Amino acid sequence: MNTPITIGISACLLGQNTRYDGGNLNAPLLVKVLSQSATLIPLCPEAECGLGVPREPMRLEGDPENPRLMTVTTRSDLTDRMRAWTTLRLNTLGREGIVGLVLKARSPSCGKRVAVHRAGDDGEPAYSPGLFIRLAMERFPGLPVANEEELRDPDRLTDFLQRSAGLDRDNQEDRR
Ligand code: SF4
Repeated sequence: MNTPITIGISACLLGQNTRYDGGNLNAPLLVKVLSQSATLIPLCPEAECGLGVPREPMRLEGDPENPRLMTVTTRSDLTDRMRAWTTLRLNTLGREGIVGLVLKARSPSCGKRVAVHRAGDDGEPAYSPGLFIRLAMERFPGLPVANEEELRDPDRLTDFLQRSAGLDRDNQEDRR
């Protein structure tokens, strides 16, 4: 019998009320398909790093190559807190054997391509990965990473799952 692969997923996509406004972004069809071949590990970088639910909205600011995670109204810099938590969480996810991440699009923590606000700049918009996903991709360079919008495309969903399964096989070979 095949052992399911292990995929980390934004908790809000699983229907957990982890968003800044106390809501979620449940994606039941995607979750149903993923669950057929994967054990899903929920994670919410913002809630789990201690910011709570609900919480003040935040955004990326500054240098797109090294943006800061800032709250919009009270101007708290959450970058170091998020980095510290992410380092520990990635250790755990590595031990749990994740072979893929499905993370919410456009979140300043989870999004693959997020607008970066730059003071006084009215030129071209700049983008960066969210803080959590940036560190995850640096830590696990070959890890398949997708958002829920990309995975609405059945071909991309199939490709994502095949790449995750391939990585899982490679990892098992390495352990032998
Ligand atoms: S997008 Fe990421 S940080 Fe925001 S609620 Fe969902 S899991 Fe949490």
